[in-house]
Amino acid sequence: MSTERNKPGRTFRRGEDGYEQARRECSFNARLAERYPDIIVQANTVADVQAAVKAAKRDAMSIGVRSGGHSWAGNHVRDGGMLLDVSRLDDMAIDGKTMTATAGPGAGGHTLAMALAKAGLFFPAGHCKGVCVGGYLLQGGFGWHSRELGPAVESVLAIDYVDADGELRHASATENADMYWAARGGPDFRRRHPVPPSALSAPRVMGLKVAIYPGDRIEEVFRWAHRVGPEVPKAVELMLIMSRQIPLVRGPGLMVIAPVFANSLAEARKALAFMKSRPGGARLALPFVPMKQDWMYTRTMDHYPDGHRYAVDNMWTHASIDDLMPGIRRIAETLPSAPSHMLRMNWSPPKTRSDMAYSVEDDTYIALYGVWKDAADDARIASWAEQNMAAMAHLATGMQLADENLGRRPARFMREDHLARLDGIRSLRDPDGRFHPYMGRP
Ligand SMILES: Cc1cc2nc3c(=O)[nH]c(=O)nc-3n(C[C@H](O)[C@H](O)[C@H](O)COP(=O)(O)OP(=O)(O)OC[C@H]3O[C@@H](n4cnc5c(N)ncnc54)[C@H](O)[C@@H]3O)c2cc1C
Repeated sequence: MSTERNKPGRTFRRGEDGYEQARRECSFNARLAERYPDIIVQANTVADVQAAVKAAKRDAMSIGVRSGGHSWAGNHVRDGGMLLDVSRLDDMAIDGKTMTATAGPGAGGHTLAMALAKAGLFFPAGHCKGVCVGGYLLQGGFGWHSRELGPAVESVLAIDYVDADGELRHASATENADMYWAARGGPDFRRRHPVPPSALSAPRVMGLKVAIYPGDRIEEVFRWAHRVGPEVPKAVELMLIMSRQIPLVRGPGLMVIAPVFANSLAEARKALAFMKSRPGGARLALPFVPMKQDWMYTRTMDHYPDGHRYAVDNMWTHASIDDLMPGIRRIAETLPSAPSHMLRMNWSPPKTRSDMAYSVEDDTYIALYGVWKDAADDARIASWAEQNMAAMAHLATGMQLADENLGRRPARFMREDHLARLDGIRSLRDPDGRFHPYMGRP
């Protein structure tokens, strides 16, 4: 729990000492948005949140909310109005008996996952450290073992939220059900998930298989991943990472990573059997390596270092590999220096999901992460992700909210009927438009 919990929340007005630091603290991306709220409120308690929302209503201010600050685009940082920082609401409680957890919006997904692991429980938290449940769940939550367990928000049982009048309310499938459908997010989340797949006493195995390919095999490996994708067991998240810093490879290379979540070693091996059909020519192919989840987090973070500048874009697609290949070739040719990279994730979602508002999804996910340290490289790298995704936009069925770039490249991000229903709920529950919609939307 935040050590600030017993102190009153702090407020910084633009121009005051501490304002710029408070603004910077709100963003994981060192390439901070050039947008300046009039006031930043750092809430320590739910009562602080309520007071801030009431003050914003009184002063007719719009509100941007920050939980973990991991929106690449800084969607929460807007010009004017209030930036309400709820990252200090980071408490969490786990009830092993009912297999439920309660967490504040500032609780880190990784912290929650580690605490759950100690209790023999599991939740499909995001793949990286630092991402907080507030924003993560509101956009759907594509996390560890989500192919089997669904987007993390599907596991949310109820939420407590502060409404546009500053009142604290509860929402579940039976109470304020429209808000439960719309957000499944707010100051408190409750959700549950057993260790995969369900039995607490069963042996649990997590780990991965890895293969490394040089640049001249990129096309072959992408074609293979596309072919086997629909048949890859749900227990496996098949990912391809293209980067200029792949061990044993010069220039752009490819890492095939297949994390698996299973009940036994035999089950894990069976789920990974499709890896035997990989194309030849790998520089390195490791056998199955059992791994603790914390290690999987650490290895993933190699690609997302702190203190770096990021420009990110993405697409969902079910286009054919023949249609996709020219774009993938162009991505490889223009790939900036590491840690910039391309991620291709095999998703192949089920035909139906729970009825809830969340990001669109499709068979294949492609995300580009421009990552660099020095502001002098902005001109060289900042437009790489966006330009390549724009060039492939005709093949996309939408953009994933997790890695959204809507402020710069508006795109479909939610099913049309869901978006219309969401807009209806917003105009009913927040008639003055106190809370910002995503950038790029009216
Ligand atoms: C390094 C890194 C790794 C990532 N890995 C994954 C991943 O594996 N899977 C995945 O799905 N996503 C991933 N993401 C994307 C991330 O989950 C989303 O950007 C998510 O929205 C971040 O949540 P946050 O609370 O940390 O960020 P914030 O920037 O605080 O919030 C993100 C958005 O949600 C809104 N919001 C946040 N909290 C609240 C609240 N309490 N009430 C109302 N609105 C709120 C904000 O206004 C903003 O629009 C990653 C992002 C980064 C930077």
